[in-house]
Amino acid sequence: MKESDRRIPFNLPHMTGQELRYIADAHANGCLAGDGPFTRRCHAWLEEQTGCNKALLTHSCTAALEMSALLLDIQVGDEIIMPSYTFVSTANAFVLRGGVPVFIDVHEDTLNMDEAHIEKAITKKTKVIVPVHYAGVACAMDAIMDIARRYRIKVVEDAAQGVMSRYQHRALGSIGDLGAYSFHETKNIISGEGGALLVNDAELALRAEIIREKGTNRSRFFRGEVDKYTWQEVGSSFLPGELIAAFLWAQLEQAQQITQTRLTSWQYYHTILEPLEKQGIIHRPTIPEECQHNAHMYYVLLPPWIDRQMVLDEFKRNDIWSVFHYVPLHSSVAGQKYGRTHGELTVTNRQAARLIRLPLWVGIREEQQNRVVQVLCRLVSRDIRCSSLLGNARR
Ligand SMILES: *Cc1c(COP(=O)(O)O)cnc(C)c1O
Repeated sequence: MKESDRRIPFNLPHMTGQELRYIADAHANGCLAGDGPFTRRCHAWLEEQTGCNKALLTHSCTAALEMSALLLDIQVGDEIIMPSYTFVSTANAFVLRGGVPVFIDVHEDTLNMDEAHIEKAITKKTKVIVPVHYAGVACAMDAIMDIARRYRIKVVEDAAQGVMSRYQHRALGSIGDLGAYSFHETKNIISGEGGALLVNDAELALRAEIIREKGTNRSRFFRGEVDKYTWQEVGSSFLPGELIAAFLWAQLEQAQQITQTRLTSWQYYHTILEPLEKQGIIHRPTIPEECQHNAHMYYVLLPPWIDRQMVLDEFKRNDIWSVFHYVPLHSSVAGQKYGRTHGELTVTNRQAARLIRLPLWVGIREEQQNRVVQVLCRLVSRDIRCSSLLGNARR
C-alpha cells in the first residue's frame, strides 16, 4: 500500500464536478463583478430553501456577521450575549463596532449556549443574542426567541456550520432576525471563502443591501427604483464576485446529496462507537429531537482520565488527522481584553478540553472509519475487544 493511501486526512473538500463549467460560463458571459446571474441564482435558491426574507451572498460568514453588527447599529459599550465556545468571528464582528461580548456557558451535551443563563446575563446595554449552532445542531431557538422578544433584543444566528440543518423543520439562519452562513472550504457546502447573510426581519432588508454595496443604494438603482445611486450610510464591500458565486452554484445544486452522504458516514461512526458510550467511556454527540442536523462534524468527548494530546499524537502516529476545536474565547488574549463572562463557564472549560473531532468528509470509506475507531478504542478502553465494535455496524 502506498503511504498516501494510508493517510486519513481530517477533511477533504468535496467537488461536485460542475464548478469549472459554471466558472467558464461566467468567464464567457463577461459578468465578473458581484450580483450577476450566478449570484442571483444562489440568492433565489437560499431564499427558497430557507424561507428567509432576503439572502445576500457575502465573501465570508465573518463578513455576514460584520454586516449584522452594522445593521443592528451596535454602538460602543453595547453588550452581545454569546457562548465562549465558538469561533473568533462571532465575537470579533461586534467588537469591531465597539460592542462587548458577554460569554455564557454551554450545555454539556450539545455544546450550544445554555438558554437558562441568558436572562441573568441581560442588562440595560444588551442589544443582541448570538446563538451558535455548533456542529450544525440547532440551539434551543424557541426559548431563545421567547427571551429575545420579551426583552426586545435582536437575535443573530451564527449558522456558519448549519447550512441544510433544521430546527422543528425551519432552516437554521431563518429563525432569528438575521442569520449568517459560511461556505468556507472546511464547511459542508463550499466556495473556498464565502458566506451569506439571511435577513428575516423585512424591515432590515433594504439597509442590508445598502451596507453590502459600500453604503449606496446601488441595488435599488439597478432595479430601476431610483434614478441614480448615492451614498446613504456607513457600509463596505461585502459581496463576492461572480466566479465565487458560479463555484457556489455548483455546490448548492447538490446540497441535498452532499448532506445525505455526510449523514451516512456520520451515522456509521455513531453506530460503531455506541458500545464505547454504553460502557461509560466516551460521549457521542447528542442530537435533540427537534433538530435535523447536517452531519457537519463528528466529535467525541473523551473521559477525564484520558490525556487528549496523547490521543491526538497516537492518531498522528497512525496517519490519522484528528483535531480538537475551539480554545474558549473567554480564555483567549482578545476575549479577556474585549469581553466579559457571565458566570463560571465550568461546562465550557471542562468539555472544551475533552473534545476531539474525527475525520469526516464526502467519500470517506467505512474501512477508514473503522481504522479511526479501532485506534480510538485501543487508547481509551481496557476491557472491550475493539475488533468487536465493527461487526456491530452490520446489524
Ligand atoms: C467557520 C465559522 C465562522 C467563520 O466563517 P468564515 O466563512 O470563514 O468567515 C464563524 N462562526 C462559526 C461558528 C464557524 O464555524
